[in-house]
Amino acid sequence: MSIKISMNGELVPKEDARISVFDHGLLYGDGIFEGIRVYGGKVFLLHDHIDRLYEGCGVIHLELPISKQQLCDDVRKTVAANGIEDGYIRLIVTRGSGDLGLDYRKSSNPQVIIIADTISLYSEELYEKGIPLVTASTIRNHPQAVNPRLKSLNYLNNILAKAEGILAGTIEAVMMNHKGEVAECTGDNIFIVKNNVLKTPPVDACILEGITRKTVMCLGEEAGYTVQERTMQRHDIYTADECFLTGTAAEVIPAISLDGCKIGTGEPGPVTNDLRERFQKFTRNFE
Ligand code: PMP
Repeated sequence: MSIKISMNGELVPKEDARISVFDHGLLYGDGIFEGIRVYGGKVFLLHDHIDRLYEGCGVIHLELPISKQQLCDDVRKTVAANGIEDGYIRLIVTRGSGDLGLDYRKSSNPQVIIIADTISLYSEELYEKGIPLVTASTIRNHPQAVNPRLKSLNYLNNILAKAEGILAGTIEAVMMNHKGEVAECTGDNIFIVKNNVLKTPPVDACILEGITRKTVMCLGEEAGYTVQERTMQRHDIYTADECFLTGTAAEVIPAISLDGCKIGTGEPGPVTNDLRERFQKFTRNFE
């Protein structure tokens, strides 16, 4: 059975879910997106994702034609229509079709697309063994350009950084910011553990303010760890006891080396495993 896609609130079979070749989402990467999880048939932290999406749309002068409540209802309707128990939602807002110029005022029909499907980003083996990381030479966008806090449809910067990771024989890469500080990975935020303290780069290090990052910071505090947002250099990762990444699709995944330099013992550490477990428990019990 073909999955059903929500196109501007209307559920259509995948084959009929189409957008115009004049859509500025395609022509210019002009739009915003979200990745959201479904656990036990319930949408995880939906309001946080919807808020981030609306904030992003506001920054790019894209007025959504529907209310937040309506969009939440459409997301839940799409999940139910596809019978998704545990899965992943991709929520996309494009500028809509215009002419071949850049003037956003000429596009007046933003497209709101919701895809609900299954996902498996990383193999179970990687969660058990951890990911080796490399440093990408491609840096995060400068905050005075397309702000890296924006989850925009233009992810080329991240794709190029990820390609560097792949070409170096791994699957993720650490991205620095224009100041040479650690920012995050290509699709995940980064944490280190040093002497039982959790540290992650602050928002002004040019990160995307991850919803999983925030959740893990809360879970960490609840568990009694000290949690700090700290400017970080690569040296801090090389000399950390543990390192892990967080993201909607990845959840919590250990990282075991950077640029060939072992982090801690070179195996997933106890704090990482503890937080991974706590996060998994939270996804099974949230309201
Ligand atoms: N950083 C980047 C660049 C991302 O694309 C993402 C989302 N995949 C994240 C961090 C993690 O954010 P979240 O926890 O909200 O998924």
